[in-house]
Amino acid sequence: MENFRRKSGIKRSIIIVEDEMVNREILSNILQETYDVVKAENGKEALEKLGSGERKYSLVLLDLLMPVMDGFEFLENIKNDEMLKKIPVIVMTAEKQAEVKCIKLGAVDFITKPYDMPEVILARCERIIELSEDKSFIQSAERDALTGLYAKDFFMEYIRQIENFDNSRKTDAVVINIDHFHLFNELYGRKQGDRVLKKLAEFIHEALDEGKGLSCRSEADTFYIYCDHRDDYEGFIGMLQTQLDSLEFTNHIRIRAGVYQGVDNEAIVENRFDKATTAANNIRGDYIRNIAYYSKEVYERALYQERLIKDIDGAIANKDFMVYYQPKYGIQGDEPKLRSAEALVRWKHPELGMISPGDFIPLFESNGLVQRLDYFVWKEAASQIKKWKDEFGISVPVSVNVSRIDIFDPELENKILNLLEENDLEPGELMLEITESAYSENADRLIEVIGDFRAKGFKIEMDDFGSGYSSLNTLTTIPIDVLKLDMQFVRNMLKNEKNLKLVEIILDIAKFLEVPVVAEGVEDEEQLRILKERGCEVIQGYYFSKPVPPEEFTQFIIKEKGRIS
Ligand code: C2E
Ligand code: CA
Ligand code: CA
Repeated sequence: MENFRRKSGIKRSIIIVEDEMVNREILSNILQETYDVVKAENGKEALEKLGSGERKYSLVLLDLLMPVMDGFEFLENIKNDEMLKKIPVIVMTAEKQAEVKCIKLGAVDFITKPYDMPEVILARCERIIELSEDKSFIQSAERDALTGLYAKDFFMEYIRQIENFDNSRKTDAVVINIDHFHLFNELYGRKQGDRVLKKLAEFIHEALDEGKGLSCRSEADTFYIYCDHRDDYEGFIGMLQTQLDSLEFTNHIRIRAGVYQGVDNEAIVENRFDKATTAANNIRGDYIRNIAYYSKEVYERALYQERLIKDIDGAIANKDFMVYYQPKYGIQGDEPKLRSAEALVRWKHPELGMISPGDFIPLFESNGLVQRLDYFVWKEAASQIKKWKDEFGISVPVSVNVSRIDIFDPELENKILNLLEENDLEPGELMLEITESAYSENADRLIEVIGDFRAKGFKIEMDDFGSGYSSLNTLTTIPIDVLKLDMQFVRNMLKNEKNLKLVEIILDIAKFLEVPVVAEGVEDEEQLRILKERGCEVIQGYYFSKPVPPEEFTQFIIKEKGRIS
């Protein structure tokens, strides 16, 4: 600290408040080499100079007996001023008796008159300034500069102290996090991101109503809350979310909370928040739940996920990830006709066995790792299309899944164009499926990306249509080439009239917009018949085939070839 301060070379300002010219000059001579010295002849003049805001003062050297305003009155005055009372004051006096009174008024040290040796005076001034700066350094670490909430270390220390004093209360540790906040920052800029954080901090602070709980910002977009135990947090988190939604600039910001309830079984404060974090991470990328409570299952799942994250790079390198293909058939002719395929990734883990994408895609989306995996899948798919072309002389277009995380990759287009070039493919041969939720999250960016791709001849499919929040309205604003009806619709279609009606409406609108529909998850003849009658053009589902390895997929191509020739 001290070295840093000396080396920093900043000349601090001090003010000498003294009516006798000779004394002022003596002090000034001693100090002016080290400090910028300002002089005042009485308390009033000093107050004016300090209050002018022209410069920041590090120390006041104060005489007691002066005309107009004496030293005591001066001390009284600055004692009540939030800013000025932070500046340390050394009183210069010849009378021992005055010292107690001065200390009560806030003075921190004394220099006796007649003056000591110059070195002693200089050393005293230096020491006092250092002490006062160290103190404010500690104080500043008490608060998080951006939000004004407690800083993490201070918060933890505070809790320890409270519990030393009284540990009979049952309390909870809560972690609040913003979903995909880094994306928000990238999209709207840090300044806007900071606004969101400040507002969220404010809402948390108000919700806790001080006294009933403490909060801090732990890092970036993570907030900690320590409060009396509650049975559930639906109302609490729901209110924060509603408040965020009411802000104009937040654009669908979603918060997620992890809760560790009950203090008794875990004494170490940090560990409780780690557990709350584990719970929160457990629902990353979950579009339905926004609160998770810590439990043994949560813990085990977290361990499992950690393992998957650790293993992903090795698995890509070893080709433990495999790409399966599921055929899509055109159904409007007399006989179903193979149109294309969807590439779906599988993980054959050497120790954990076969893992389905539902277990790792949302996880890898939440931390961005999905980009690497997707690239691997695209690369495999592109070279597979070429292999089939070379072998059978027909092109089977393959659609690949493009995660909403990929949309933010500035290299996305180049990466895909390079894959086409390497494999001598046309853009129409590698189609891109983008899931519906991406459309509602960041429509502007998406419209731009989709526009660029389509201008180059790529076909864009809107995946999982109807599963998320996007309205039929998005269909008219975002230009797409294919609509993939979410599996749920097909599954529920035959359960009642209303569901069937819904499917009919979607098919009608798509027809009106001249966008072909692919129905996913078709498993039986009846579903196929109904969809066909209502004008659905393409079907993907177990009725024709599950996703299969490329070797097995060739049977569909061979069959198709037989039909053509
Ligand atoms: P998705 O893109 O909606 O893919 C369709 C899913 O439905 C696949 O599940 C497929 O196996 C399954 N499916 C197809 N027909 C039927 C059927 O008739 N009945 C039933 N019950 N299911 C059917 P899968 O392979 O488990 O993939 C799940 C999800 O994981 C995919 O949903 C997709 O969102 C994601 N995913 C898979 N591969 C990739 C990938 O390479 N990259 C990215 N980003 N996501 C992927
Ligand atoms: Ca898909
Ligand atoms: Ca889908």
